[in-house]
Amino acid sequence: MIQAPKGTYDVLPREAERRGILEAHVQRIFGGAGYRRIETPAFEATELFARGVGASTDIVQKEMYSFDDGGGRSLTLRPEGTAPICRAYIEHGMHKLPLPVKFWYFGSYFRAEQPQKGRYRQFWQVGAEVIGAGAPETDAEIILLLAELLEAMGVKGTRLRLASLGTPETRVEYRDELTAYLRAHESELSEEVRARIDLNPMRAFDSSDRGTQVVMADAPKLLDRLDPEDAEHFEQVRTLLDVAGIPYEVDPTLVRGLDYYTRTLFEFTSDALGAQSGVGGGGRYDRLIEQLGGQPTPGIGFAAGAERILLAGAEQPIAPDPVDLLVVVANREDRIAGVAGFELAREARRAGLAAQFELSGRSLKGALKHADRIHARYVAIVNDPQSATLKDMESGDQRELETAGVIATILRGSRLA
Ligand code: ATP
Ligand code: MG
Repeated sequence: MIQAPKGTYDVLPREAERRGILEAHVQRIFGGAGYRRIETPAFEATELFARGVGASTDIVQKEMYSFDDGGGRSLTLRPEGTAPICRAYIEHGMHKLPLPVKFWYFGSYFRAEQPQKGRYRQFWQVGAEVIGAGAPETDAEIILLLAELLEAMGVKGTRLRLASLGTPETRVEYRDELTAYLRAHESELSEEVRARIDLNPMRAFDSSDRGTQVVMADAPKLLDRLDPEDAEHFEQVRTLLDVAGIPYEVDPTLVRGLDYYTRTLFEFTSDALGAQSGVGGGGRYDRLIEQLGGQPTPGIGFAAGAERILLAGAEQPIAPDPVDLLVVVANREDRIAGVAGFELAREARRAGLAAQFELSGRSLKGALKHADRIHARYVAIVNDPQSATLKDMESGDQRELETAGVIATILRGSRLA
């Protein structure tokens, strides 16, 4: 038996409907704010992610599905959407458009990870990017729209954490300061943190070791080292969120995977999710477009996991698709009546009715039972090429009609008895 590959899953029709609802909310909320949909290829040159995500990130170091395309080029199944969208922005010369350009997307992404609840190897993200605007209103807007989306989907127990990373230069200086601080307190730190001082000093903030936590309480914080302009930018983002009534916590220890972030960084989590609590996050990436070969251009975006939104979101009642008409051929052996019935279903659809042809060869009795099951409003039993019995499944009334009159009768909604 062949099964779906580890870490992947099938979107069965019921789930597909919930996804459709999610997509409709994204379209409504982001479309309403002037964001337009973008789609990029499922794979890209590996180099794009190596340069655009950052060589030191988990994604690039261990989570990419890379392969040779047969011609000696390395391609990678896209692990995230921001670098591809910036690539497309540069490739299509979108800097000539009125700025900023605002995109939303909904597609699948691939990461070689250990699968668990809320973590897959192929997963879907909804996201948005604003390229060509650096003002703090942009940062606040994108956070606000994501908050609105999560609310519309009924995601429970959300928390928003917020920080500012300043510039890469500030971070380099800060990193030296933090490393020196950790060195000075080396004996009080856990083994694990000590071993990673040079590799990733920021991780010390996440340690569950008591001694390390005591040391980190007094450690220098990046937020206190921001340049005045970066600090002011962050202040304004906070003011805008305060006015919009979006609750958040400033978390000076917030670190996210991607190297290209500048200034604002944010993440929504949900208590409803357990271990994989991250619903979506993002940040500003004012250096990325330049790093990919474009003009220096500010940008900001987020990505949120569709599975996690659906897991933490409210079950939305889904009404079954309406069926206006089920066409049944009384005598399956009668091929000419079969053609008439098939045509009737086709014409009914062209007239705007939701009409199905009974395909499975059920007996008349079985077909009527099936009509009940799918909540068909009417059943047309085609007796011969010219005549059909139209049955109103609600009242039970039925009437013999010319086949040609069936659709008009349904559209008029006239009583059959
Ligand atoms: P995590 O901490 O869960 O690994 P991340 O920091 O790698 O998340 P991002 O790269 O910021 O996540 O991706 C944005 C969102 O995409 C996450 O908040 C999460 O909801 C979702 N996501 C990331 N990786 C996966 C995955 N392997 N399976 C399902 N959803 C994912
Ligand atoms: Mg991850």
